[in-house]
Amino acid sequence: MICDRCRVEIDADEEREIHGRLVCEDCYMDLLSPTRTCDPWAVHSARNIPETAAGGAGLTDLQTRLLNILEETGGVPGPVLAERLNLTPRELEREVAALRHMEKVRGERREGRIVVRLW
Ligand SMILES: [Zn+2]
Repeated sequence: MICDRCRVEIDADEEREIHGRLVCEDCYMDLLSPTRTCDPWAVHSARNIPETAAGGAGLTDLQTRLLNILEETGGVPGPVLAERLNLTPRELEREVAALRHMEKVRGERREGRIVVRLW
C-alpha cells in the first residue's frame, strides 16, 4: 500500500492510522508529535527573548530618579541618596547594584566616605 502523506510504498504491517489516514511509520510519528511552531508557549518565549534583552537596558522610574540626583549633585553618599529617594539602605543597595551592573553608577571614595556617582 501507499502512504497517504508522503506516498512512499509501505508494507501492510508498517501502516499506521492517524486522523483517518493510512500513513507510514515516519509520517505517523510526524503527525503524532505536535509541531513546535504551533506551540503557543514556544512562540511566546521566542518573541519574549529580544523584549527581555531590551527591557534589561531600560530603567525603572526609581533608577531614573536616582541617576537624576547623581547628575544634579555630582555624587552623594549612600545614606543621603537613600533619604532623597525614600529608600531603606537595603533597597538602595539593590538599585545601586543593578545600576552598577549596567555601568550607570559607581562608588567612589571621597574624603574617607564612599559616594555614589555616575559611571
Ligand atoms: Zn509517509
